Amino acid sequence: MKTVHRLERPGCGCGEDEVGDGLLSLDGALARIAGKSVAVEETEHVSLQHARGRVLAEPVISATLSPPFDNAAMDGYALAAGTLEGEGPWVLPVGDCIAAGHVPGDAVREGSAVQVLTGAPLPKRTDTVVMQEHVQREGDRLVLRRRPEVGTHIRPAGEDMMPGQVIVAAGTRLGPREIAAAAAAGAGSLRVRRKLSVVILATGDELRPAGDPLAGAHIWDVNSPMLAAAISREDVEVLVSRHEGDALGPLRARLSCLSETADVIVTSGGVSAGAADLVRPAISGLGGETVFSGVAIKPGKPLTFGRLGKAFWLGLPGNPLAAFTTWMLFGNRLLERLAGISAPRARRRHVVTGMRLSHKPGRCELRLARLAGFDGLGREVILCPDVTNSARVSLLPQADGLVLIPAEVESISEGDLLEFVQFFER
Ligand code: AMP
Ligand code: MG
Repeated sequence: MKTVHRLERPGCGCGEDEVGDGLLSLDGALARIAGKSVAVEETEHVSLQHARGRVLAEPVISATLSPPFDNAAMDGYALAAGTLEGEGPWVLPVGDCIAAGHVPGDAVREGSAVQVLTGAPLPKRTDTVVMQEHVQREGDRLVLRRRPEVGTHIRPAGEDMMPGQVIVAAGTRLGPREIAAAAAAGAGSLRVRRKLSVVILATGDELRPAGDPLAGAHIWDVNSPMLAAAISREDVEVLVSRHEGDALGPLRARLSCLSETADVIVTSGGVSAGAADLVRPAISGLGGETVFSGVAIKPGKPLTFGRLGKAFWLGLPGNPLAAFTTWMLFGNRLLERLAGISAPRARRRHVVTGMRLSHKPGRCELRLARLAGFDGLGREVILCPDVTNSARVSLLPQADGLVLIPAEVESISEGDLLEFVQFFER
C-alpha cells in the first residue's frame, strides 16, 4: 500500500516570486507575463466551417428553442395515450407515415395513430410515441397490448436549448464540441478574435538551415522549425524570419522591422550574458522594455520577456530543449492571454514518480517525463531520464511533458507526488 502524500500548496514549490540573484520563480514569471498581456481587441466573423481553433469574442446565444418543435425520438406510432380507454389491447387505425423534415397534416382522427419516423414533428393531438417494435401492425391498423406511458419517446421543444441561453462562453477556443453546440443554437457564423501574428527569429553565427550541408563550426538550426511547429495554430500566423547572425547592427535593424507588424517576436539564443549575446542590447538600443530576464529554472534560466514597440518579445535560450520547454510553459501562456482565452485549460496536475530522482538543489528543474501508466491507487505514474541536458533533443520524442522538481529538493523517492505539465501541440 502506498502513501497518498498531502499537497502543501499549489504552484511549482519554489516559493516567492523573486528567488534571489535577480531571478524570478517559474510561477512569478508566469504571473508577470499574464499581468502584462491582454487580449487583442480586433474581432472578425468566421463561418462555422472556418471556426475551428479560433477564440470566441462574444458568447453564442441560442436563437430559438432547440429542438424547435416536439418530435419523435424513435421510429414508431404517435398517438394520444391519455385518451386510451379501458384495458388493452386497443386496435387503432393508422394514418400517414411522417418522416423527419415533413409537416404532419392537420387532422389526426380521435382514436387513431400516425406512423412517425425519428425526428418527425409530433402530430397535433398526440402525446406519445410507441416504438414500432412494441405494436403489431395489421394492414392499416395496429394492435397495442400494453398501455404506454404518456410522453414517452418524445423530444420536447426546447429540451436542449432555450432562447437567450448562453451556449458557449466568450473566450472559449472553438473545437468540434463548441461548433456542434453553436450549430444547434442556430449560429451560422461566429465573432472571433483576430489572428495573432508571431515571428520567430533564431540567432547565432553557427546556424544553417536543417538539411543544408555543414562546414566548419556550423550546426543545423533546430529552433526555427521546432518553434514554428509548436506555435502554428488556426488563430496564429507564424512567420519564420531569416536567421540573424551575431552582429548587433543587422540584428537591431531586423528586430525593428519585425516589431512593426508582429504581435509577438520570439527570438532564440543570444539572451545569456556572453559576448555574443546581443538580443537584449539590440532591444534596449531600440527603446524596448525588458519586463524580466532570468528565471530560476533549469533549463531555461536566461528566459527574457519584454516589449518592443507594440510587439511583445519573448527571448528564449538557444539550447533547443531549453527553447522548447520555455516556449511550452511561458510562450503558450502569453499566446493564451493575447488570444483572449478566458479560462485556460488546466495543464498542470500532480503525478506519482515511478522511480527515485536526484536533483542538484538551486533551481526548479523541468525534467522531461513520460507517462507510464497508473499505480494501484489509480494515480498517473511518470518515468524520467536521469538528468536534464538542455542540448539533447533526441529525448523529446519520448516525452509527454515535464515534471517540476522544486528548487531546494535533493531527492525524490519513488511514489512521491510531483507537478507535471503535459505538452500540448495545438
Ligand atoms: P545561446 O543561447 O545563443 O548562447 O546558444 C546556446 C547553445 O544553443 C549554443 O550551443 C548554440 O549553438 C545552440 N543553439 C542556439 N540556437 C540554436 C538553434 N536555433 N538550433 C540549434 N542549436 C542552437
Ligand atoms: Mg548564440
